[in-house]
Amino acid sequence: MSIIARNEGPLHAAATTARAIESFLLTSFHDFGLNDAITRALAEEKYFTPTPIQVQTIPLVMAGGDVIGIAQTGTGKTAAFALPILHGLASQQQLPRKSCRVLVLSPTRELSSQILDSFRAYGRHLGIRAALAIGGVSMGNQVRALLGGVDVLVATPGRLLDLVKGNALRLDNVECLVLDEADRMLDMGFIHDIRKIVAKLPAGRQTLMFSATMPRAIADLAAQMLRNPVRAAVAPVASTAERIEQRLIRVDRAAKPAALVDLLRGEAPGRTLIFTRTKHGADKVVRHLIRTGIAASAIHGNKSQNQRERALAAFRDGEVRILVATDIAARGIDVDGISHVINFDVPNVPETYVHRIGRTARAGAAGIAISLCDREETAYVRDIEKLIRRSIPVIDPAAPARRLDPAGMKAGIGHPPTVRAGKQRSPRDSSAHKQPRSDHGSRGTSSIASVAFMHRDGSPAYRSSSHAATVTAHSKD
Ligand code: AMP
Repeated sequence: MSIIARNEGPLHAAATTARAIESFLLTSFHDFGLNDAITRALAEEKYFTPTPIQVQTIPLVMAGGDVIGIAQTGTGKTAAFALPILHGLASQQQLPRKSCRVLVLSPTRELSSQILDSFRAYGRHLGIRAALAIGGVSMGNQVRALLGGVDVLVATPGRLLDLVKGNALRLDNVECLVLDEADRMLDMGFIHDIRKIVAKLPAGRQTLMFSATMPRAIADLAAQMLRNPVRAAVAPVASTAERIEQRLIRVDRAAKPAALVDLLRGEAPGRTLIFTRTKHGADKVVRHLIRTGIAASAIHGNKSQNQRERALAAFRDGEVRILVATDIAARGIDVDGISHVINFDVPNVPETYVHRIGRTARAGAAGIAISLCDREETAYVRDIEKLIRRSIPVIDPAAPARRLDPAGMKAGIGHPPTVRAGKQRSPRDSSAHKQPRSDHGSRGTSSIASVAFMHRDGSPAYRSSSHAATVTAHSKD
């Protein structure tokens, strides 16, 4: 039994295209014809306007077709698949034991938990049964949760296969499969597990695949696992969320920890996510920050599930303003209001840069991404700039300076930044700063011509210029 009747036949392509065009006109969740219990939950969540990926995807999924969604985390893609799936689930059915009707596969435990939370939030008035199957915690509770069958199971691939092997779960009743962050699942080596899982699913299921990027391997996977999929794409990866203001600081490797501290003090960021390449590196950065009096915590694969959840909760609640993460651990972090992403290490895979900086500027907000780049990372920056088709302005240590009114700093860390007036920079710098902010935290055009970050003793450290002169004092919103 399928959740939604599949639309097949010669008119299918034309009909879906017409529907896709029509969907651009949808401006309210009421326009989709979603179950009232869902629109009520959305109103409670204060979702008023569907995001572009939701506008495109919801009608396609409701019509029963397979969909490839090209969208980054932060675009609202979870609701894009969760809402129409919940709509299909609304007509309650008897659940077979040890089985699920919808299976969502995601690469990390954190992302899986967040997807489950979203299903529960949007489906709170529907009385659906949803469960989580992730590694790092005991299987007992998961086995018990599956006993009577569930509507939605959100899982990481390894634990899902363990449950199947242990006869705690059958996959022959799955009506809809979602592969979320498919590119990341491939990067993390889950391809064999995914193939094993898909081989156990009914051929007549609906399949939805979401990916931030569309490398060849993902296109091949989609060709094997989806039937006549319709593609829904928003913000191609190369266009890197235009709202994100990007900057680069050139610094010797050994000076990075000190540069980071100066940056955090000078920049007075709000909620900040710092990326390191390794787990060891993340711990080292946290130790250094704590030694200098800046509260921070780390999240990476060596931490237990409990530790990770605690760190994430403290970050989300604003108890800890700075979280240091590796790429894989950060993948599932769904925290709004991240003002700054700092790349302590420049990633050697350009797409990773896009994933990282996309953690700020979520759900329509603006954000700042700063990368500390040593000599050896220069080549990585070139690759990134090629991918995003823009150059990342370098914070220039040569500009003269003036002081910023400390009253502008509302929620800064440590000391207010020191700002120096200086000459305008080259046009190269101008492209990346479409939304300059005032030095009082609100958005607007800054009159500051250039900025310098200074050490506490007043000696200059790193300076930015022209449009990069957007020292932001974020309030605690
Ligand atoms: P996602 O891309 O699914 O990780 O979603 C990013 C963030 O946007 C999450 O915090 C969602 O709660 C939020 N969000 C998703 N859709 C909407 C919407 N239509 N209106 C407002 N916020 C949304």
